[in-house]
Amino acid sequence: MLVLVINCGSSSVKYQVRDTEGATEDAQVIAKGLIENIGTKIPNHTAALELMAKDLEEPLHGKTIDAIGHRIVHGGDVFSQPVIIDESVIEKIDELSPLAPLHNPAHVQGLKAATATYPGVPQVAVFDTAFHATMPEHVFRYAVPENFYTDYGVRRYGFHGTSHDYVTGIAADFLGIERSEFNAVVAHLGNGASITAIEDGKCLDTSMGYTPLAGLVMGTRSGDIDPSVLTSVLMQDSTMTTERLDTILNKESGLLAIAGNNDMRTVVDAMEAGDERAKLALDMTSYRVAKYIGGYNVAVGGAQALIFTAGIGENSHQFRTLVTDRLGALGIKIDEEANKVRGDHARIISTEDSAIPILVVPTNEEKAIAEATVELVAA
Ligand code: AMP
Repeated sequence: MLVLVINCGSSSVKYQVRDTEGATEDAQVIAKGLIENIGTKIPNHTAALELMAKDLEEPLHGKTIDAIGHRIVHGGDVFSQPVIIDESVIEKIDELSPLAPLHNPAHVQGLKAATATYPGVPQVAVFDTAFHATMPEHVFRYAVPENFYTDYGVRRYGFHGTSHDYVTGIAADFLGIERSEFNAVVAHLGNGASITAIEDGKCLDTSMGYTPLAGLVMGTRSGDIDPSVLTSVLMQDSTMTTERLDTILNKESGLLAIAGNNDMRTVVDAMEAGDERAKLALDMTSYRVAKYIGGYNVAVGGAQALIFTAGIGENSHQFRTLVTDRLGALGIKIDEEANKVRGDHARIISTEDSAIPILVVPTNEEKAIAEATVELVAA
């Protein structure tokens, strides 16, 4: 099946056409691209998708798209599975916009534009939050008044679900463990980063919360902080606004705030050159990851594997070492030779006598979305 995978942001559209029957990753990816400047140089999402369709004419050689899979950030507690798109689904995604004001409105634009550009082609929505729908209530609730939850939907949702789900499946297969009996900790470490406790192959807990700001120290996001910091700053600084605070915590914090740069490669290079700020930033970041790994090991009653994925998790052997060096109490030991070997397949990077294997598993959200799309459309 030829599946067009679309990720619509407010000013950009990232797309990939995949042949789900291709034997290798190279054979599966027929075309990919990015259209930017929607709202400035390109008037709207419909115009962007028309441009995309034009760009696709040559690589498609007259073949037609069989189905479209959309990455949708927020499914709230309405969507716990991928769904076939119809009018009512688009409406519900729109209604969830208060939970993801930057993303869901753009997704709705993209869904409508795709319907106009590819009339009659079945479309599927795959939600970043869906994999986390299995979290039990004592895990997803915050200890705040009930009406925060009932009126505003304040609870833990979790994100990067498509990646956590995909990587969990690959790791269980790789280790020869039935997914339904697989306990693990998955660290998705990219510019945005989250970590998930996997129990019996499903999500038990995850570090992102009501929004993707919670949990780990990230490229530009603070991760967990004491919420009183916000009220305190607002009360002490009369020029401060809630919008400004939101920008600071999402775009000016994390590695960027401490080390002066949000790119892991640059920060690691700076640390190796003796930069104290870079060292502090990496200590803070790796300490937080290790703390979650310890907690989630307890949560799942003992993980059978620790899995690293995404930009930093897959590529930065230095950062993996910084994290795993803090896991001595769990008997988890990294093999420095194996850790430094690069590769684009799942691999083990722990020593023979490590309490559990440490794996690097490349994530592939487009592939996961295409597979979920085919599964629904074929059914
Ligand atoms: P992602 O959001 O998954 O694309 O990941 C982006 C992050 O991965 C950035 O912080 C990059 O610095 C980091 N990254 C990508 N490639 C490498 C690499 N070869 N070594 C270290 N970090 C990398």
